[in-house]
Amino acid sequence: MSQETPSKAFARREAAFRKRWFPAAAAADWADWRWQLRHRARTAAEFARVLPLSPRERRALAAPASWRMPLAATPYALSLLAAEAPDGPLRRTLIPDVREARVGKGELRDPLGEAAHAVAPGLIRSYPHKALLLATADCACFCRYCTRARTAGKSTCDKTRTDPDDAQALAWLRRTPEIRDVLVSGGDPLTLGDARLEKLLKSLRAIPHIELIRIGTKIPAVLPQRVTPALARMLKQHRPLWMSLHFTHPSELTPRAAAACARLLDAGIPLMNQTVLLRGINDDLDTMRRLNEGLLKIGVKPYYLHQGDLAAGTAHLRSTVAKGREILRGLCGLTTGYAIPLFMFDRPGGGGKVPLGPGGTRNQRK
Ligand code: SF4
Repeated sequence: MSQETPSKAFARREAAFRKRWFPAAAAADWADWRWQLRHRARTAAEFARVLPLSPRERRALAAPASWRMPLAATPYALSLLAAEAPDGPLRRTLIPDVREARVGKGELRDPLGEAAHAVAPGLIRSYPHKALLLATADCACFCRYCTRARTAGKSTCDKTRTDPDDAQALAWLRRTPEIRDVLVSGGDPLTLGDARLEKLLKSLRAIPHIELIRIGTKIPAVLPQRVTPALARMLKQHRPLWMSLHFTHPSELTPRAAAACARLLDAGIPLMNQTVLLRGINDDLDTMRRLNEGLLKIGVKPYYLHQGDLAAGTAHLRSTVAKGREILRGLCGLTTGYAIPLFMFDRPGGGGKVPLGPGGTRNQRK
């Protein structure tokens, strides 16, 4: 008897999850990103409905006052969590922990000092030549370690960010010729519809001194259905365009995620990955090797490994610099150089990035 391929096994598990927990949804609904967004789990009860929970997870979900940010997970992401045992690594990225309520020494609500560097609504001058455009506050899923927990999911994107906000941000960019590099981020800009995103990209492209446009997104990891042929066609019109993806664990590298990345690559968009080093989630050599080699296999360059920011309520998820260095040293010689990211730390208050990798000491302005 022939053995089931990993792709077939994934499709079978996914279909079984859909039929059990979303019996009214056809396969076409599951493949529709808007259906996925509409059916996100947003409450403790919605998480508990589809996941057998550990006592730790149950305690945290029962204590919403301790949450540092809202809950959200797409049905697709929930299907990945359901494939893990309670307290599994991906679960810890999306299910809260009561320790989120503790603010550790040196931790800040706005660890990168973004509010102090805002030059227009949702526009942050992060470096003399670079700006960060927060296109929305919404994400498909909310990661418990997020640096921007203070704004995440405050409302839906279209309520928190309006055309006049875009107009103010764009006006500032037009009159600031030193800015050559714009990172469109959020929240997750790919939660916006194609028309809204295209309008923004066209406006940015029309500013002659903006040479580099990048999009930061976790969508291929948590809602790969969003990368439709229409989205890829639209993005292709606005090249050169780079994307910073955000895969955290090899379990996110599913056939659907691979297909989303292939579509973006076919549209001529280079894909780089940024991962946060997370305690008990990906801070071991084997997990990091499998993640980075898996990324290369789907055409994504592991670019940055971030030491966790000093965001309030994240101490339980933050790994150590020593652990990150140990992993990087372990990767050298064990895997191809392409699979070894730069290990970086964002200095608190917006002081710029510092390389932490073996041998790295200079300040890096990216
Ligand atoms: S996708 Fe990014 S912005 Fe959204 S919650 Fe996760 S880390 Fe934060």
